[in-house]
Amino acid sequence: MPSLIDLHSHSTVSDGLLAPEALVQHAAAHGVKMLALTDHDDTAGLAAATRVAAEHGMQFINGVEISVTWRRRTIHVVGLRVDTDYEPLRSGLEKIRAGRHVRAEGIAASLEKFGIEGSLEGAYAHAKQGIISRAHFARYLMEKGYASNIKSIFKRYLVKGKPGYFEHEWATLEEVVAWINGSGGVAVLAHPGRYDIGRSNMLLLLEEFRNLGGAAIEVVTGSHTVEQFQEYARLAHMFGLKSSMGSDYHGPGHGYMEMGRLPDLPRGCTPVWQDWPEVRLLNS
Ligand code: AMP
Ligand code: MN
Ligand code: MN
Ligand code: MN
Repeated sequence: MPSLIDLHSHSTVSDGLLAPEALVQHAAAHGVKMLALTDHDDTAGLAAATRVAAEHGMQFINGVEISVTWRRRTIHVVGLRVDTDYEPLRSGLEKIRAGRHVRAEGIAASLEKFGIEGSLEGAYAHAKQGIISRAHFARYLMEKGYASNIKSIFKRYLVKGKPGYFEHEWATLEEVVAWINGSGGVAVLAHPGRYDIGRSNMLLLLEEFRNLGGAAIEVVTGSHTVEQFQEYARLAHMFGLKSSMGSDYHGPGHGYMEMGRLPDLPRGCTPVWQDWPEVRLLNS
């Protein structure tokens, strides 16, 4: 039976395709009973999502997926059960969003040097509500016919070494974990299987994350293989970290997995939601 829990998803506030209200409705229709909306670097969708979740009798978790630079690489940390009014978190996210605008100009300038015009306006036209991201550039490039799917757009234009890549420094792991924990939330390392950093760096990352106060890692996520579910379950156990799960849903036809299809955590994992009050309600 698929899990009723999904703790990683995106709306139009970041790079998802559904508005927060529609995202929650979609989750409900796919059997999700406990949902976290975790837009990139922005919490603007949480209030609306909370309202709609209540109408569906769904347990809703305030979330955010924060961009981090760790040893010159980008990684993502999900904050769950965060207090969006906590000032260091609020101002930290605001600073990251401001950085995204500067980075977008850099991306557009690089693309222009390569002969691709109008990408700044084009990308912003796709970023209707909140942050600007590479996903919005990808949609513009696809609209202009530069490739037939988002994956190849990224591969050809938007990753390191390609014309639209622009080096950017996000927040540090230390500050991000502190914002999340300080707000009363829990810090979860997102989709560890997607970081191409090698085994020894992964062990370093997990150790550092745990020592800074990180609580859990995503063991079951839409972008992990079945083997990776087991691998990260073992690593979570090894570092005394809890386990989380989420689809990382970005909208119909986009991303890795439909909602409501995640398998349960592997046996032996300690769920990050173990002592949450929302779970008691879920089972009642
Ligand atoms: P950004 O945070 O602006 O660098 O944008 C990263 C986002 O782009 C991710 O959260 C994904 O939603 C999307 N993305 C990154 N790589 C790919 C890819 N290869 N294919 C499709 N979407 C991607
Ligand atoms: Mn995304
Ligand atoms: Mn991510
Ligand atoms: Mn995500």
